[in-house]
Amino acid sequence: METFAVEELPEISESDDLAGLVEERVDLEDGDVLCVASTVVSKAEGRKADLSAFPASERAEAIADRLESVTGDRKDPRFAQAVLEESEALLTEAPFLLAVTRFGHITVNAGIDRSNVPGADLLLLPEAPSDSAERLSEALSVPVIVTDTSGRPFRYGQRGVAVGWAGLSAARDWRGESDRDGRELGVTVQAVVDELAATANLVAGEGGGGTPAVVVRGWSFGDHAGSDDLFRREEDDIVREALQEWAFDG
Ligand code: GDP
Ligand code: MN
Ligand code: MN
Repeated sequence: METFAVEELPEISESDDLAGLVEERVDLEDGDVLCVASTVVSKAEGRKADLSAFPASERAEAIADRLESVTGDRKDPRFAQAVLEESEALLTEAPFLLAVTRFGHITVNAGIDRSNVPGADLLLLPEAPSDSAERLSEALSVPVIVTDTSGRPFRYGQRGVAVGWAGLSAARDWRGESDRDGRELGVTVQAVVDELAATANLVAGEGGGGTPAVVVRGWSFGDHAGSDDLFRREEDDIVREALQEWAFDG
């Protein structure tokens, strides 16, 4: 398997034809998967915003006060408002805002970025990243994964995850297959879009590298059943359930 960045993409602006810009720079082949950082998908979809677009509600003010008392850092209440508006629910309000986005991905601050956003205060995630992936995939005739950098429970450090995908299944189901001893696998469903997203994120980097699109070449899904379950349903999620009863009292 080979993974390489699409070089020399420009700064992306609203209404840019992202698929066209990629196509001009790389000859995609059958079997390639294109991973694109949500940052540039958002920019192309006009998801830059200023804090002034999010006048703070009472709840947002209260969240900002609470965050300040817990972390010692004053967050703009309008930022808390933006997170609220981008979310279906907040799982925690302190020591950080852990949000369920409208499309089901759970992440800190609803994935709203403040870096790599020239000319605006904020960059919101795409509204429906799998729909974005679908459009790109249709235009480019290869599977597409929209990625974001995200933190994770239990471990320090962030890594790339898939927030949307099209043209391939999210997960590869190994259940019913055998290990090397002939023992049947009972539970393993491999979240391949996350693994590809993490790989692509490694190549894309986090700073000013300017390489938001990464081609994965020579990987194949193989002969397995697929599944598009990536975001846990609420009733299957014991962590989410526990968080609903937990309140940070620091
Ligand atoms: P995120 O992980 O989707 O939140 O995006 P990052 O801000 O970490 O950026 C991922 C990669 O895309 C980095 O290499 C950035 O330098 C690059 N990047 C971000 N915006 C642009 C852009 O408008 N044009 C180009 N060419 N690269 C960008
Ligand atoms: Mn991001
Ligand atoms: Mn990133």
